[in-house]
Amino acid sequence: MKRIIYPGTFDPIHNGHIDIANRASHLFDELIFVVAINNEKEPLLSSAERENLITRSTVHLTNVRVESFDGLVVNYAKRSGAIAIIRGLRHVSDFEFEFQMAMMNYNLNPDITSMFMMPDEKYIHLNSTIVKDVARLGGDITDYVPDIVKKVLLAKYKA
Ligand code: ADP
Repeated sequence: MKRIIYPGTFDPIHNGHIDIANRASHLFDELIFVVAINNEKEPLLSSAERENLITRSTVHLTNVRVESFDGLVVNYAKRSGAIAIIRGLRHVSDFEFEFQMAMMNYNLNPDITSMFMMPDEKYIHLNSTIVKDVARLGGDITDYVPDIVKKVLLAKYKA
């Protein structure tokens, strides 16, 4: 069983994330979204809410599951029997950070391979922060997130 993990904050999941999951899940037997529980980004949504939205946004993919994790991603990969980590690359500006992280992960565990994919051009400028900003300010996010994510964000910002 060839397994890949897809770590991130996913606060919330958007169509760029889903584009990468669609592609990577076709290349592996199983893809596990790994939701970072605690990180410096101070997420809007709890890890349970983020997990739930990922699950509901990826029902079309039968070989995907979702977990939360706190700690080193390579440790999680090893524990879950994954052989690779998938990350999205949007711009050249993503490269430096991703390169550093990939090198560190390689040093921590050379058995885990870091892989990168570019999303469809239409998602290149998308990130979770911009989706939240647009939703908070009353803009239309229909083209950027699944309906369920839109519903949850609108409810959060109405409260
Ligand atoms: P962000 O970096 O936007 O805060 P995450 O930490 O949730 O988002 O990202 C998790 C993974 O998804 C990272 O590998 C990131 O590069 C990737 N990703 C984020 N946005 C996109 C996008 N628009 N297209 C493709 N991959 C993306």
